[in-house]
Amino acid sequence: MSATSAPAGPIGEPVVRAIGLTSGYAGTPAVQDIDLTVDAGEVVALLGANGAGKSTTLLTLAGELAPMGGSVEVLGLRARRRLDYRARHGLGYLTEGRCVFMELTGWENLRLGRGAPERAIEFFPELEPHLAKRTGLLSGGQQQMLALGRILAADPRLILADELSLGLAPIVVHRLLSVLRSAADNGTAVVLVEQHVHQALGIADRGYVLHRGRVVMSGSGTDLRARADDIATHYISGEA
Ligand code: ATP
Repeated sequence: MSATSAPAGPIGEPVVRAIGLTSGYAGTPAVQDIDLTVDAGEVVALLGANGAGKSTTLLTLAGELAPMGGSVEVLGLRARRRLDYRARHGLGYLTEGRCVFMELTGWENLRLGRGAPERAIEFFPELEPHLAKRTGLLSGGQQQMLALGRILAADPRLILADELSLGLAPIVVHRLLSVLRSAADNGTAVVLVEQHVHQALGIADRGYVLHRGRVVMSGSGTDLRARADDIATHYISGEA
């Protein structure tokens, strides 16, 4: 663990508290009046169609966007703090796309993280034979494992994962989500933005469905799993 990273907190400790969160771009709200909580040890799924406001919500929780209204507390920080500050206080943010440097080798990518490269490999031992290669030559799944392993190596208290599964085969998605679930079982809070409703709800303790910038449904993983087909049909397949 690096000197500045914090171990995951006790299960159930509040990690994200957003009340009436409104956020957007150039003075125009993209999400409005969002109430969202995440505790240590929870996987919370944020579901919705393209443009529903999922990434905007994550960007605001990460400190990259200033809230236009409401209150947001992340990792005990009430005032807006930028991503690098939050990262030093236990935030791991996996943005949409591949968070790796394609020209560097796998080892070099891991060395850029806050945790030890060896620790990242403990989460994904299957990466080890490929780490001397240029990362651009690795498969999409291996690149995503590299990015997630690097984050996990720093023992984050909160992981924000935006479309982790984009373009990946179901077996790889299952592998990535299982590792995230284990991290949560060890006390990390996880917010998982996904369009793959069934896969996300497969590991989620709770979830929120966003539609046109507002929460239209929320509940326990069990409740939402029972309505997964309904959610996919009404809120994911259609336009936001
Ligand atoms: P996707 O699944 O496609 O990533 P999303 O649910 O994450 O969608 P957001 O990316 O949060 O949705 O977008 C919400 C709204 O904000 C959309 O109307 C989008 O056009 C708008 N938006 C997103 N980024 C910007 C930006 N940089 N400037 C202006 N508007 C933006």
